[in-house]
Amino acid sequence: MALGEFALIERYFRAAGASRSDVPIGVGDDGAILRPPPGFDLVAVSDTLVEGVHFPQGAAPRSIGHRALAVNLSDIAAMGATPAWALLSLTLPTVDEPWLAEFSAGFGVLACEHEVALVGGDTTRGPLTLGVQVLGFVPQGEGLRRSGGRPGDLLCVSGTPGDAAAGLALLQRASARPAVPSAEVSSSTLSAPLATLQQRFEYPTPRLALGARLRTLASAGIDVSDGLYGDATKLAAASGCAVHIEPQRLPCSAALTAAVAAGVFTAAEAMAFVCAGGDDYELLFTMPPAAIPALQADIDRGDVTIIGALASGAGLWLLEQGVAQPATAAGFDHFG
Ligand SMILES: [Mg+2]
Repeated sequence: MALGEFALIERYFRAAGASRSDVPIGVGDDGAILRPPPGFDLVAVSDTLVEGVHFPQGAAPRSIGHRALAVNLSDIAAMGATPAWALLSLTLPTVDEPWLAEFSAGFGVLACEHEVALVGGDTTRGPLTLGVQVLGFVPQGEGLRRSGGRPGDLLCVSGTPGDAAAGLALLQRASARPAVPSAEVSSSTLSAPLATLQQRFEYPTPRLALGARLRTLASAGIDVSDGLYGDATKLAAASGCAVHIEPQRLPCSAALTAAVAAGVFTAAEAMAFVCAGGDDYELLFTMPPAAIPALQADIDRGDVTIIGALASGAGLWLLEQGVAQPATAAGFDHFG
């Protein structure tokens, strides 16, 4: 590499992220030395983004830096934990300094926002790949799991799932037909909703504050990374329950509604984004009905929506007019 590994880490990553007093030794040694607070469990998560798989080729480096950290912070949020330290493994085809500066800025702004220190990592040459590990804390024994749900618990989701998948579809259309979408966007009042959807893919918001509150309210939790229905099925299976979802209760953002009204997406496409899109990094959780008052303000603001419940049995069921149908591929189309 034109720029040596040490110089690269020094220039772009030593200052990325927050500085913390619980890092006696950070970037620059053979290993970081970290000091967890007494009385807390350590929570460790890891997620890798590969160009062309997890983000489109040529994606904005600032967005890649943000997402590489955000997807990990979302897993920390789903555990009800508070993030503290991150490690970054960077595989680069070439040393492109303007790219690195933007990537580091995207990573660093989000890290500072959540007081995460970058304490180490590794750089190597190869196809563009970002591996991140985040370590965080949770009061001993209080970590949120997928397995704590019980029949009768309500199923809730934060935010508006589907937006990120719609945003990714817009980005993919733009790269396939560069001239067309920009003309559509600039000539109509649609530019704000479409920009919002794109932003939701490029700069997802990890729900850390909500996750920490859910430690004492929720019975089980997972983040929506692979799609709402798929992740609900995983939570239900881990809890030994069936999950019933009422599709008409699923929240849909104003931006996605506007995109459908303008014919950018069909209603069926929008429903597929909401149910199966993934990449939203919202929280999906269960809670006993007695916990509703503690979340009533969030529900009233639309930050949290009750979309179904756990029941005895197994699998994902869609509830229409009080009748539960197994969510087969056909059932899925039906709700489109
Ligand atoms: Mg997850």
